[in-house]
Amino acid sequence: MTRARVILLTSALGPLDYRIPHGMEAGPGSVVEAPLGPRRMVGVVWDDDSFPSVETVGDNRLRPLLDVFDVPALSPALRKLVLWTADYYLAHPAAVLRMVLPHAALSGEGRPIVEYRATGDLPKRMTAQREQAMAAIGESLGTVRELAEKAEVSDAVIRGLIKAGALEGFESSADAAFPLPNPDAPEPQLSDAQAAASRALVQSVEARAFAPFLLDGVTGSGKTEVYLEAVAEALRSGRQSLILMPEIALTQPFLKRFAARFGCAPAVWHSGMRSSERRRTWRGIASGEAKVVVGARSALFLPYADLALIVVDEAHETSFKQEDGVHYHARDVAVMRGLYENCPVVLASATPAIESIAQAEAGRYETLTLPARYGGAAMPDIAAIDLREDPPERGTWLAPKLVAALTDRLEKGEQSLLFLNRRGFAPLTLCRTCGHRIQCPNCTAWMVEHRLVRRLACHHCGHVMPPPRECPECKDEDSLVPCGPGVERIADEVALRFPEARTALVTSDTIWSPTKAAEFVEQVEAGMVDIIIGTQLVTKGYHFPELTLVGVIDADIGLEGGDLRAAERTFQQIQQVAGRAGRGTKPGEVLIQTRVPGAAVIEALVANDRDGFYAAETQARKHANAPPFGRLAAIVVSSEDAQRAQRTARDLSNAAPKDDGMAVYGPAPAPLAQLRGRHRHRLLVHAPRSFALQDAIRAWLGSVEWGPKVRVTVDVDPYSF
Ligand code: ADP
Ligand code: ZN
Repeated sequence: MTRARVILLTSALGPLDYRIPHGMEAGPGSVVEAPLGPRRMVGVVWDDDSFPSVETVGDNRLRPLLDVFDVPALSPALRKLVLWTADYYLAHPAAVLRMVLPHAALSGEGRPIVEYRATGDLPKRMTAQREQAMAAIGESLGTVRELAEKAEVSDAVIRGLIKAGALEGFESSADAAFPLPNPDAPEPQLSDAQAAASRALVQSVEARAFAPFLLDGVTGSGKTEVYLEAVAEALRSGRQSLILMPEIALTQPFLKRFAARFGCAPAVWHSGMRSSERRRTWRGIASGEAKVVVGARSALFLPYADLALIVVDEAHETSFKQEDGVHYHARDVAVMRGLYENCPVVLASATPAIESIAQAEAGRYETLTLPARYGGAAMPDIAAIDLREDPPERGTWLAPKLVAALTDRLEKGEQSLLFLNRRGFAPLTLCRTCGHRIQCPNCTAWMVEHRLVRRLACHHCGHVMPPPRECPECKDEDSLVPCGPGVERIADEVALRFPEARTALVTSDTIWSPTKAAEFVEQVEAGMVDIIIGTQLVTKGYHFPELTLVGVIDADIGLEGGDLRAAERTFQQIQQVAGRAGRGTKPGEVLIQTRVPGAAVIEALVANDRDGFYAAETQARKHANAPPFGRLAAIVVSSEDAQRAQRTARDLSNAAPKDDGMAVYGPAPAPLAQLRGRHRHRLLVHAPRSFALQDAIRAWLGSVEWGPKVRVTVDVDPYSF
């Protein structure tokens, strides 16, 4: 072959043709460097027939490729996945390829990555910036760029510190070996249900064929033990496994368990890694040397050399849905990857998504059920506290019944957990004098008070400000009051009521790293904590045998707003957090504070009637032709210029195909009408399941032109609307 069809990673252009110079090997999948205008860009060689509509350029007009990177060519299975993802989610293949080939994977080719660390000597000349940088860097290690980012200074400041001898460099070893987990260590004695489920998975790994499974087991039933058997089988044949986790800061207990079973840690992949670790891991995955990878959703697009198994743990978690860049759902892409790689895919959950249940009911997924907790622990008792009949005292948030239950556990020396899915101290700051509410300057959102870090923060754009001393509107001093509770405020109330209790606050302000998560787990396991107060960070995965009481502070938060999945999500979240209670030998109790105890979801939780809830919810979706029985897409038009956004949204709406099988609703202001300073309008597209939604949207959007200052994003199978 002398020609190559290349997709460039950082260009919105379609595939471009290049000439392969004499002596260069650049077959399909090769990662190459190619010229575009005066620039050199990274690209991937594609099969000629992947893009039938691309016109072929005459040989004499082709520019030559510049270089081929020394990394394995992307496999046909991965190339198919890239095109499928781009096609299904209406993204550019280049945007998907950037997830396959993150910057660090190729950086420093042929030369080592150099990372720097403090020497302990301070520079002779100290400036305010240098001081800030040294304080922020502390003990950490990173490249110039990473340290500059961490310290919020320019690269030049870091370079200055290197010159001054305050930082010293180390060459990172990109090729440090990955330890080999030992699959033949003694395995746990499985229960009958566990053994049956694991046998099905092991056989499926051996069969080397695509097979999607729903591993449906109540909290504490030992789903992890079951899929680790399949991982062991993959290891025995020298092949790779990928385990996707919803929240990487929380994988600590899993990593510990993995190491206890297999004798060493798995490779991990997440957005917080240093580029040297990224490069090493990427290469270990591509060479096949990293046998087990535990990662966040982005690990799905890595170039596994020989993938034998994909597990999506806590598969119902909404964090598997990516909401920026390529709007994909990792659970669904995982199934496609399994299809192309000819391997089983395991969706593990105690509260599967309605979508997954529907797939299983339609016979497309095989269900493996673990009906009981391992070791015979009973499921917890669940009761609702009607806040209208048993309200907390004024200015507090814990109802008397919950306070009594907490007191009881403290007396018995047992642990309790209070759950409120709201970060910070108070969700709203209000002026008592003029009624002014402090809003984010960039978003249609209130600024949330975070008292621990003494800031107000916008949870949508990250804007922060110091807490104002006077009302920005009427200038009255001492008139601003926090309204409503966040977890920090619950922690305050607990400290006031139970000054002798030892508490742990678990929120992203306190648990921001795997190390912090590990410290938390250790403290609870050592019995050094009486009451845990946390956001959704504490709902999943943890196994604390001494924890016997779970209090849900406000079960109604998620039900507001009328989202399609509001009830489903509330059910899942409360079931998950309830599942933390009574996992040992002592029985668990769950108290749910609510103002609507008669709501179907609360009644189902109290009656422990999961099947009834799912059946009713499925029926309602069917009736409304809502996902997964019908298809939805959200189109968001945004611009800093309010009028342009509105005009484009109207143009799009006017150009919408009529009587084509799909219905277009809107435009209407998007749920966050303003976000990061951009005005947003939204159109919703609804169609039957059999409808070729992507083709229709592509044709429609292609028929409308909009100006340079307008952005149009499509979200197929949207989550938040
Ligand atoms: P799930 O993921 O279903 O919530 P886990 O896999 O975390 O459940 O299991 C709950 C607890 O039971 C864990 O401490 C686990 O080590 C233990 N466990 C589960 N299965 C077994 C087994 N077969 N032998 C010994 N311990 C087990
Ligand atoms: Zn904001």
